[in-house]
Amino acid sequence: MLMLTGVAVAPGEALGPAIVVRLRAHDLRYRIDPDAVGPELARLAEAADQTRGQLEDIRDRTRHVLGAELAGMFDVQLLMLADPLLRERADAVIRSRHVNAEWAVLEAGEELTVRFRAVEDPYLQERHGDLTDVVGRVRGNLQRGENDASWLNQQLARFADPCVLVADDLPVSVAVQLDWRRVAAFATDAGTRTAHTAIVARSMAVPAVVGLQDATRLVPPGAMLLVDGTAGVISIDPPAAMVEATRHRLRPVAVPHTSLSGPARSADDVAIHLLANVDRPEDVAFALREGAEGLGLVRSELLLGAHAVGDVGEQQQIDAYRALLEQAGDREVTIRTFDVTPEDAGLGDPANAEPRERLGLRGVRVGLAHPELLERQLRALVRAGEGRRLRVMVPFVTSADEFVRALALLGTQAERVGRPAPPMGVMVEVPAAALDAARLARHAAFLSIGTNDLIQYTLAADRNDVRVQHLYDPTHPAVLRLLRMVVRGARRSGRRVAVCGEMASDARLLRLLIGLGLRELSMTASSLRPARETVARCSIAEAQAEVYRALYDADDRPAAADAAPAPAT
Ligand code: PEP
Ligand code: MG
Repeated sequence: MLMLTGVAVAPGEALGPAIVVRLRAHDLRYRIDPDAVGPELARLAEAADQTRGQLEDIRDRTRHVLGAELAGMFDVQLLMLADPLLRERADAVIRSRHVNAEWAVLEAGEELTVRFRAVEDPYLQERHGDLTDVVGRVRGNLQRGENDASWLNQQLARFADPCVLVADDLPVSVAVQLDWRRVAAFATDAGTRTAHTAIVARSMAVPAVVGLQDATRLVPPGAMLLVDGTAGVISIDPPAAMVEATRHRLRPVAVPHTSLSGPARSADDVAIHLLANVDRPEDVAFALREGAEGLGLVRSELLLGAHAVGDVGEQQQIDAYRALLEQAGDREVTIRTFDVTPEDAGLGDPANAEPRERLGLRGVRVGLAHPELLERQLRALVRAGEGRRLRVMVPFVTSADEFVRALALLGTQAERVGRPAPPMGVMVEVPAAALDAARLARHAAFLSIGTNDLIQYTLAADRNDVRVQHLYDPTHPAVLRLLRMVVRGARRSGRRVAVCGEMASDARLLRLLIGLGLRELSMTASSLRPARETVARCSIAEAQAEVYRALYDADDRPAAADAAPAPAT
């Protein structure tokens, strides 16, 4: 049995057969049941027919436009497609090894490449590019032009039981569209604890381990995998006794599922308000049952699914926001305006797309650079929020000026639709905003700290880069000082302040947040129950002492005034 260790991002254990996918290379591998061989051969035959039709079409058009000589290249590709060493070999691989068609055709193509290379004929050796082209086209046709998520969902639906998805990476746009009921657990080569996909997995309560580096290479498709999302370990083909013991442990037991409500109470009876980060209406009921007093963060771009948000019309947005608000009933809901890049919004040139975490255009910067995008969203929020306890939160604010401009847009849009503007607050996730929190609080209705970004920018450690995760330390004194500064800045203007980053979802860090003076914590719904227990076990004085210890170790005793913990509310 081989065990791989990565980053534990969503707790729990799960067992299942591995589906291995390299999304970047569109390489999908899994084992099929013997009785699925017939349909699999038919899938491949259909994709090969489609490929032949496409190649004939391209050849004829090339002949017409560029002449017969160049068109001949596609005759070569057609011959390769018909070559028994490719098609018949792929069929044989499906029959004998029970693998999916995508994998079989790739395998047959690789074998043929080896043969080409072995022949000392430069002409044949140069045909390697054509072969890759043909194989790529067949695989593309097996995907039938579907996007990655629906392609994966179709494959997952072929299994009677949920599988373990092993991927190179799982972009959040795919993750939000995945049919998670069919995924027992997931494991990825890339990824970190605060990557959005990990956050989605936690909210789906699907055990997950990320940052495994080369799991897609080491896990044989179809192997039985045991994923321990608490320890951050996956075991490949564990011994039968271990599988049995795990199955026994995982047997559903009827736990009386108590609904929790009201604020959590510390050991010395101080109220700590627990809220949930939720992105889908169907997850609200679970969050409320787990004791959420409201929804502290709704990432609107995730709520709208994988759409390029610039293409989502006002009415479509109103419907999506209302569906969520409806579920939340009379609870307070904080919806964050789009935190996307122009390319994610469908506004920029996709060729220039860059990760959101790059310090370029994202969040409020995009909204101010493309006011029509933000204005449409604000109108939709104003309309959807009428009669509801909605708050609007602006992401990636760096200066008071930016926030004031966003606030003015909210005012004009509310006036335009003739309805009251909901309260608007600042998401504090850039160090400059934390340092200037007191000023921001004078303009904002509330502050909410996005620790995922605040930590990465404070410590210059990319939250998605597995190589610097040891530097991504939520307990770093610089981070704690910034958090304290935000709490104090908000209090000075009598504003509420919350944490809505993943730091609040981590029971081990909750005491620090409470010690820093935070009384509102918004987290993944599955963390609410453990958080309530942690709160109940800890007094405010103990939490403050923990902050003190984290800030000042024995070698670095501060002057008394500097060391004073934040006063409790
Ligand atoms: C954060 O930055 O802490 C946050 C909650 O937002 P996101 O994870 O979407 O960047
Ligand atoms: Mg953020």
